[in-house]
Amino acid sequence: MISRALVTGVAGQDGTYLAELLLADGVEVHGLVRPDDDTAYVPDGVVLHAGDVTDHESTRTLLHELGPDLVVNLAAMSSVARSWSEPELSWAVNAEAAIALLEAAEEMADAGHQIRFVQASSAELFGSPAVSPQDESTPLAPTNPYGEAKAAAHRGVGEARARGLHASSLILYNHESPRRPPAFVTRKITAGVAAIARGRETELVLGNLDARRDWGWAPDYADALLRAAHAETPDDYVIATGVSHTVRDFVAAAFAAAGVDAWEQYVRVDPAFFRPTDATELVGDASRARRGLGWAPTRTFEQVVAAMVAADLG
Ligand code: GDP
Repeated sequence: MISRALVTGVAGQDGTYLAELLLADGVEVHGLVRPDDDTAYVPDGVVLHAGDVTDHESTRTLLHELGPDLVVNLAAMSSVARSWSEPELSWAVNAEAAIALLEAAEEMADAGHQIRFVQASSAELFGSPAVSPQDESTPLAPTNPYGEAKAAAHRGVGEARARGLHASSLILYNHESPRRPPAFVTRKITAGVAAIARGRETELVLGNLDARRDWGWAPDYADALLRAAHAETPDDYVIATGVSHTVRDFVAAAFAAAGVDAWEQYVRVDPAFFRPTDATELVGDASRARRGLGWAPTRTFEQVVAAMVAADLG
């Protein structure tokens, strides 16, 4: 039984959806937020605590004071693009903070307090994988600072599990929603397409249109995090739809959903948005999650795009 949870990164896309699910289950939800976080989507009822996961001593103290039976670590510097310009910050937030939080949870478990830990990991663990789709046995071979840091945290979870902690790491493929910030290509596209459809903008400037991603519906991924928390035994799980599309496909689907024809005239490619290295294809095989957690995606690519465009059209 989970009755009290601490969610780091609660103000982010996944945190807000997860908090909604936990509250609906009657769980007392505590969330860690930084002072400048936008908390617009954090549901009423979440107890907010100001802090930063890079302040290890404070998060450790908070954990001991609250004594939650679930910790979900969603705090992240989640933009791959930004991790190239701020690799140290990416390492501090995405790797070191996760490991410190795991250690604090293990301390509590060692002291006899039942505690479960769920880590939001990433498809970026796999870099530019030679095999497709990827699953939990695919070698970790990250190729950007974000992936390097997430790989360290993912290994940390495995090691804590080996020492006896109920700790799961969910290898989340890209997952989107109207709550996705526009730093991510999906929301940049849907916001841009809506502005063009409304006559407020005349062009959409993007980078690599050939990159392929496995894009799912973010609330489904929050549901997977919760299922992992409730599972009898902890494990690593790939969470993905198993279907990939190019950025170009996303653009075409978004313009179609907005009822705008001949989209090519509005889109310009600017090499400034290309990355030093970029996974060309990431697609996940979520068979283990399907079997072990009873998890399955509920929305198709077209439905995800249409929901985001509809929200941006207002
Ligand atoms: P990521 O998979 O976590 O890096 O999620 P993003 O949404 O940031 O990027 C997904 C893919 O879209 C990457 O391969 C990017 O290179 C590509 N992409 C193409 N144009 C853009 C752009 O204008 N902004 C972003 N963020 N990504 C872009």
